[in-house]
Parts: sequence; structure tokens; C-alpha cells
Amino acid sequence: MKKWVYEFHEGNADMRPLLGGKGANLAEMTNLGLPIPNGFTVTTEACTDYYTQGKQISQEIQEQIFAALAVLEEQRGKKFGDESDPLLVSVRSGARASMPGMMDTILNLGLNDVSVEGFAKKTGNPRFAYDSYRRFIQMFSDVVMEMSKSFFEGILTEIKDAKGAKYDTDLTADDLKEVIARYKAIYAEKMGAEFPQDPKVQLMEAVKAVFRSWDNPRAIVYRRMNDIPGDWGTAVNVQSMVFGNMGNTSGTGVAFTRNPSTGEKGIFGEYLINAQGEDVVAGIRTPQPITKLAEDLPKCYEQFMDIANRLEDHYRDMQDMEFTIQEGKLFFLQTRNGKRTAQAAIQIACDLVDEGRITPEEAVLRIEAKSLDQLLHPTFDAEQLKKGEKIGQALPASPGAAAGKVYFTAEDAKNAHEQEGEKVILVRLETSPEDIEGMHAAEGILTVRGGMTSHAAVVARGMGTCCVSGCGEISIDEDAKVFSLGGYTFHEGDEISLDGSTGFIYKGMIQTKEATVSGNFGRIMNWADGFRRLRIRTNADTPADTANAVRLGAEGIGLCRTEHMFFEPNRIPKIRKMILSDTLEQREQALQELLPFQKSDFKAMYEALKGRPMTVRYLDPPLHEFVPTDPADMEALAKDMGMTVEQVKQKCDDLHEFNPMMGHRGCRLAVTYPEIARMQTRAVMEAAIEVSREKGFSIEPEIMIPLVGDKKELKFVKDIVVEEAETVKKERNSNIIYHIGTMIEIPRAALMAGEIAEEAEFFSFGTNDLTQMTFGFSRDDAGKFLYSYYQAKIYESDPFARLDQNGVGQLIRIAAEQGKKTRPNIKMGICGEHGGDPSSIAFCHDAGLTYVSCSPFRVPIARLAAAQAALNRKK
Ligand code: ADP
Ligand code: MG
Ligand code: MG
Repeated sequence: MKKWVYEFHEGNADMRPLLGGKGANLAEMTNLGLPIPNGFTVTTEACTDYYTQGKQISQEIQEQIFAALAVLEEQRGKKFGDESDPLLVSVRSGARASMPGMMDTILNLGLNDVSVEGFAKKTGNPRFAYDSYRRFIQMFSDVVMEMSKSFFEGILTEIKDAKGAKYDTDLTADDLKEVIARYKAIYAEKMGAEFPQDPKVQLMEAVKAVFRSWDNPRAIVYRRMNDIPGDWGTAVNVQSMVFGNMGNTSGTGVAFTRNPSTGEKGIFGEYLINAQGEDVVAGIRTPQPITKLAEDLPKCYEQFMDIANRLEDHYRDMQDMEFTIQEGKLFFLQTRNGKRTAQAAIQIACDLVDEGRITPEEAVLRIEAKSLDQLLHPTFDAEQLKKGEKIGQALPASPGAAAGKVYFTAEDAKNAHEQEGEKVILVRLETSPEDIEGMHAAEGILTVRGGMTSHAAVVARGMGTCCVSGCGEISIDEDAKVFSLGGYTFHEGDEISLDGSTGFIYKGMIQTKEATVSGNFGRIMNWADGFRRLRIRTNADTPADTANAVRLGAEGIGLCRTEHMFFEPNRIPKIRKMILSDTLEQREQALQELLPFQKSDFKAMYEALKGRPMTVRYLDPPLHEFVPTDPADMEALAKDMGMTVEQVKQKCDDLHEFNPMMGHRGCRLAVTYPEIARMQTRAVMEAAIEVSREKGFSIEPEIMIPLVGDKKELKFVKDIVVEEAETVKKERNSNIIYHIGTMIEIPRAALMAGEIAEEAEFFSFGTNDLTQMTFGFSRDDAGKFLYSYYQAKIYESDPFARLDQNGVGQLIRIAAEQGKKTRPNIKMGICGEHGGDPSSIAFCHDAGLTYVSCSPFRVPIARLAAAQAALNRKK
């Protein structure tokens, strides 16, 4: 017979996968001899079983639960549901990874109309007994039966008002009896049945509710955001109750062994006298700082501090603890490695190394790579934030804090910023590539449509600009330049603030603070650099982004997207001219005009890189992305090209494609228009030669041909590049070395990688396109239906955010293997959103890639994640 239920003394901290975090630590603490109320844990496997049985708890599991309950009765010398001295328990969820958003705890389970009387007599404290019962009814109805909390809060407030009571604690036993009667009445009315009186029924219902909560929408969202697999399941802890609400020598509290926001060493926490469970966090009464306990109950405080220190020593990490004092006797109810801000994580890790308790390797593993995001963007001043008025919430698409005046077009945003020096927030229905400059000028971006991987989100993350996206509650009229949200209307120039880390939107300007890179941050990064094998490059298209990335530790550019250089107002007319040209001569002339811009951009990039390598990707997007839509632009273009507006319109229409992402783009542009590749080659080579000579760097240009699917296709473009590069070398009397490689972003390229490597000196996996073409759906459209896939448990996460290691990953592995077979020293990297995602970085480490390339602001994250991947493999 399988063991589904463990008494606390049967487990230990290593049994987290089976017992959940809470259960494993309760077991560990029990075995350390700490004062833990007795109890047992129903395993995560029982949860999985519940789902495979079609949401039923099997007979065998039920029997084991009741057997464990019998042991508990024995230990406590009390009977479940007893008329004179009932055993009461709490039912607590606890998954392997701590998951806020799952089920709330149920306390005082086991009370009913009869046992509450016995409980009142036995404790000699009727007020306390009735208070416990009314709390139980309230929690059970809310958590297990999913009745709205407001029914109960309403009743409680009414009775408190009627009795002139300020706090719950002011209500008498008789008042509470009235509360109970009304609670039960509303329960019967809403549920169509009496409140369950059989404690065993109460218990099984509560256990089922915990299992169900594993799949509630909040939990599903949380799992997806934190890479927690759906099949882990949650455990249930059933624990005998201790009471913090028995008078003034009782109480309940929470504490950390170090400050969770700064990391400062020293106890940090709060408690409430005469209170139970949620009272501390519910904010009904103001809790006392934990140090006050030293005055109120000195013995308890001493014992508490002693245990807290022991726990920190034992786990060698900052602990987050929950405790209850019943009539002067202290009980611990929980401990775990405390959640902390990135700043605190770094401080604590460095302190623990200095205290000789952990090694630098462990310190590096202790910090959640993703959390470093918090340190790299401006943040709100905490005091100011408290005063802010929240008016809405949407997706936290790109972190950081932003405050400014709203503008509705990229141009207005840019002008207000550049000419008036305003801090601006760009508010759009959704953004498009033409908005780039406005996005650059903005402190923050707010969009009505779009998900975490929408254009706005991706570009904003790349730029390190705060972005809140997909705020469906907004009603906007872009033409009239007005939107409304949260009962307010905002016109151009009105002030709002955005928190890109929470998705909150505030009315008015909230002061922000610039991020600083503290000394300890650098220390951790240095350690990480010593442990990692993967190199870290960045995706950057401008000298400013490059300088930023280098400052954050980038070792080069893995992806420079040349088309982004063409969007600026003085350049876009020239590329449009090139696109609409009829003849080779016309096109070459337009390209000739673009050459100086492209070359000076590359020079600036090489200078910012100070000798670090740069992979330049040749023109990639479908050409129609550049063509004008605005009538004024069309007119200007017509004039410039000596055509009529009609002709221009016609040409633009001709460029229309049914599936532009799978159309005339990437190296296909160079195959049809070799002169584009030729111009770009000249620009790269001249820039590299000049900067090498002027600055004394030894630059080896890396030229990358996108969207290749066949060796011959690459060869065709490569021949053009080589011919032009050699011409430039001769003209400049230079013997500069350059490299030509390709992107692997079409499934066929991955499969043909062995042949392609005969021509390519390096591969860069373009995982955005590769994912899109492997799944057959696009990043921009997936948002519309992926949610249904999460709900149906078909996919667990967005493959554009987290690399699909099984499918897309297989293509990468094949290509890497085949490529190495042909060319053993081939350099391989990954660019695209995944380059900054820790789980994807671990995959790249395993696949033997040379480097990952990510947005500038993710460079420190990637450095840390790469070190963690290397250390985890060593373990
Ligand atoms: P969460 O995971 O949300 O912290 P817990 O299961 O830890 O939920 O329960 C929340 C609170 O309920 C605890 O901090 C404690 O105050 C109270 N609680 C839980 N179990 C008991 C118990 N057996 N006796 C007394 N209080 C309890
Ligand atoms: Mg807890
Ligand atoms: Mg691509």
C-alpha cells in the first residue's frame, strides 16, 4: 500500500517534492525538537491522484487521513468533534515552491453547534470559543464553498455598529452568538444546505478545496510566471490548533531573521496580542514591532530569538517564520527561506559569505537571476508610492517606474520630450515599429492592447523602458487624444505614473529614484563571471544601448539589427526611395545615399564597443514595413522620386504580402537585390577598418545573413559579401579579418545545419522566428488564444518567453551537433528574447553554445543565470 500521509516526525526538509515546502519544514522543525503543534501532511502525490481520479479522493487516501487523525487525537488527548473537549485543527496548503495565490488557510476546523459549547466550558472562555467558531464558519464558507467574503464582513460590521464596538475584540460572547446565528443563516440561504456539522465532512471538504486550489486561475497564472510545472501538485497540512486569541498572554506574529527589503541583519517582524492567524496581515488592528514582545512577554521573546537564530543557522539562510503564543507558551507554525527583494538577496548572500556560512558558489546560486531586474530600473520612492492613487492595473510588461505627462502619438511624445524637456508617458492603443522614437523618448509606455510579448513589451524591455500593456479597462480615443480609466479622464499633458513591475497605474506623478549598482552587486557579478562558461553578448542597435550594455558587462554585440537604423526621420525617406525604385540604377543611387548613415552608425557602435566583437545582421524585415501609410509622407516621397501620389500608392500596394513573416524578407531580399547586401558590406568593412586605425582596436567584423534555409542560398549572398569586402580591403589597403555566418531560425536551416556550416563560420539561433515557424503561430497573434491553451493544460507557458526545450530545443540541438561535426570550432549563440531568460540560458549552456545575447538591461541577469547553469551542472 502506498503511503499518502506522513506524520510530521516522519518527514524532513529534503522531502519538499512530496510534502511541499511547508510540510517538509514543519517536519524538519519537529525533528529539531522545536515546539510545533502536532500534525500530518497529505502528500503532493495525493493531489495528483485526486486529479487522475476525476477530482475524487480515493478510499485508501481517506483511510490514511483518518488513521493519522486518530494518532493526532491520541497525542493531544482530545477527540475530533467531542462534545466536551473537541480537537481542533488547521488545514493548510503547501506546494513544493511557495505559491501565493493558492488556497487560504482554514483555522478552528472541528467546531460545530455542539462542540463549541464544550469548547466554551473547557476553556472557561465562552467569548473565545464563539469567536473561534464564527471565524471558522467565515473561513470555511469563503475558502471551501467560495462564498463571497462580503456577506460575512457585512454582518460583522452591522453587529459591531449596533453594539458600538470598535474592534472585533470588543464584541461579547452573546454578540458573537448572534454573529454565528446570522452567519449560519446566510450560509443556508446561499448554499441551500445547513452549515456542515460533521467534523469529518468538514475535514474532507477542506482537503478537497486545497487540491482544487492548485488549479485556480490565480495559481495557474503564478505557475506560468514562475516556471512551476502543473503536475507538481500541492500537499495539505492538517495541524492541531494553538490559540493566539486567548487573552493578553496570547498572540500571533510573523518575523524574518533579516530585513527582507534591505537585507540588513537583525530580527524584523510584527505581532499582535490576543489575535489569530490572519489578523496580523489583515490590518484591522495595528501590529506591534517584534521587539516590543521583549517587554510584553520577555520569556517568550528570549525563546523566540533563540529558535530564530537556530533556524537561520540550520538552514544557512534568512528565515521567514510564523509563530503563535498561547497563554504564555510559544509555538512555531512555519519557517521557510524568506522571500526578499533583489537588493536584500545580494546583501544577505554577501553577508553570509563574510560570516563564513556559505561559499561564493552558494551565494551566486542563492540569488534569483530574474529578480536582478529590480535593480536595473528606476523605482518609486517608497514613501511617495504609499500616497499614490491607484487607478488601474494591467500586465507588468517591462519593469521600472515611470512618471510623466501623457501623450498619444510617438511624435507628440518625442517633441514634448526633446523640445519642452518633459517627462512623457506614451499612451497607445498598441505600438508599431514607427513608434520607436516616441518610445525612446518616453519614461514609460501604456498600451490598451497587447500581451507580455507584444511589440510594445518586447521593444520596451529591450530599451529598459517601463511598460504596462494590455489595459483593457482603458477607453481611449487616440484621435481626440483622451483616455479614461478608474473614473478619471486624461487629456494630453495630464500626469500619470506606471509601475512596470506590478502593472499598477497611478494618477499623478510619483517621484522616482535612479537605480544604483552597489558594491555588493558588483561582488556577486564578479563571482558569477568566474563560474560561467557561456559568454554574454547583447542585442543593441544604437551606440547608447551599446554603451549601456557594456557598462552592465556585455562582452560584445550578438545581434545588431541594421533595419532599426533606418527608421529615423532623415533616413526613412531614403530607404523608401530604395524600396520603390524601378531600376537598378535608381536603387543603387538610393543605397548610395544610405551608405554614409549606415557606416557612421557602425563606426559609433564599434567605438562604443572598444574592441569587443559585433555581429551585424543584414536587412531582415519585409520591405513593406518601411513604406509610408501617412498621406503627407506619400506626397513627399512622390515628389522626391518624380512620381505621382497615385503611382506611389500603387507601388506600396504591390508590396502587400499575405504572410509577410513568411514572405519576401531576410536573405531573400539580398537574393533579389544583391546591391543591398553590397552596400551593407561596404558600410561594415569601411567602419571597421577606420575605427581599427583611428582607435587601435583590432576589429574582426562578423556579418550575419538572416533567414537562411539552404547552403546554396547562403553561398549566393556570401559570394556577394566576400566580393565587396575584398574590394574594400584592397581600396583601403587593409588585411582585416572578417567572418560570415548565418542565423538558424527556419526549421529547415536547423535540419540542414551540417551542410550550411560548410559556408557559415558561426550560427546564431534566432529563437523568436524559430519558435514562430516551429509552432506555426506568431508572437503577435499567440496572445489571443494561448490563454485557452494554458487553461486546457496543453501548453504551460508562452514559448516566446520561455524556450520550448522539447520541440524548438530539439532543432537547436540537432543544428548544434551537425554544425560542430562539419566545423568543430564553430561559434554558436542565441539571440532573441530567450537570451535573457534564465531557464533558456541553462538550456543554452547544456546545448554547448558559445554565448547568449540579450537586451542590455538583461545582461546582468544572463551573467548570473549562466553562472548558475554552470554550477548546477557541476553539482
Ligand atoms: P500561508 O501559507 O498563507 O502563510 P498558513 O498555512 O501559514 O498560510 O497559515 C496562515 C496563518 O494561520 C499562520 O501564520 C498562523 O497564524 C495561522 N495558523 C495556521 N495553522 C495554525 C495552527 N495549527 N494553530 C494556530 N494558528 C495557525
Ligand atoms: Mg504561512
Ligand atoms: Mg528573425
